[in-house]
Amino acid sequence: MRRTPLSPMGLGMCGPVLIGYGTPEQKAYYLPCILSGEDFWCQGYSEPGSGSGLASLQMSAREDGDDFVCNGQKIWTTHANYANRIFNLVRTSKEDIPQRGITFVLIDMDTPGVKVEPLVMLSREHIQNQIFFTDVRVPKKNVVGKVGEGWTVAKYLMQFERGGHAYAPGLHTRLDRIRRMAAREAATAAGA
Ligand SMILES: Cc1cc2nc3c(=O)[nH]c(=O)nc-3n(C[C@H](O)[C@H](O)[C@H](O)COP(=O)(O)OP(=O)(O)OC[C@H]3O[C@@H](n4cnc5c(N)ncnc54)[C@H](O)[C@@H]3O)c2cc1C
Repeated sequence: MRRTPLSPMGLGMCGPVLIGYGTPEQKAYYLPCILSGEDFWCQGYSEPGSGSGLASLQMSAREDGDDFVCNGQKIWTTHANYANRIFNLVRTSKEDIPQRGITFVLIDMDTPGVKVEPLVMLSREHIQNQIFFTDVRVPKKNVVGKVGEGWTVAKYLMQFERGGHAYAPGLHTRLDRIRRMAAREAATAAGA
């Protein structure tokens, strides 16, 4: 039987963020679907002009009743061609320093106005994508953390993405293995 792997960005990034910052309703709704594989998540951080300098991101979210109306573009979005949900950084304000006007939102990929286009690699693999958002309505209940404090949530997520928390023991084990290999190589070279 062929088994579909669980969404790595659901399990390793969105799940921990929801545990840390989600409302009880968000946890009850999203976490079981991450574990069952029902939901496949992708990460909407990078934009054409905002990669390393992520705080300059421009995808806008304008309040309109119970929703935000989102417009903009994300790029390099791994697995967006499979995902049914995306955790996304949007700009809700331009009035303070760039980091303070960012909000972390959860968007269903089948919302009208979401368009995924492939970015095919030289190897011809299709893993990365760009996503265009045109007047995409996102309910305010899909904000994780507080409006305008998405940078704090995003930094928390980075701890899980870039070698912190859950990945750290595995990385230490690999490092130890490399140390042992290097010691063996050195001993062999010294004895030769
Ligand atoms: C395989 C792959 C998968 C990815 N998947 C996702 C994803 O799922 N979701 C997502 O949001 N993003 C994703 N990204 C984007 C990635 O996480 C980075 O944000 C993005 O690659 C960096 O932005 P950029 O390509 O515009 O490079 P730039 O930001 O333009 O940087 C280009 C180079 O300049 C250097 N540089 C930049 N600023 C400075 C500075 N101030 N001083 C000195 N050097 C600097 C950088 O280190 C880099 O070497 C993915 C990228 C790759 C390669």
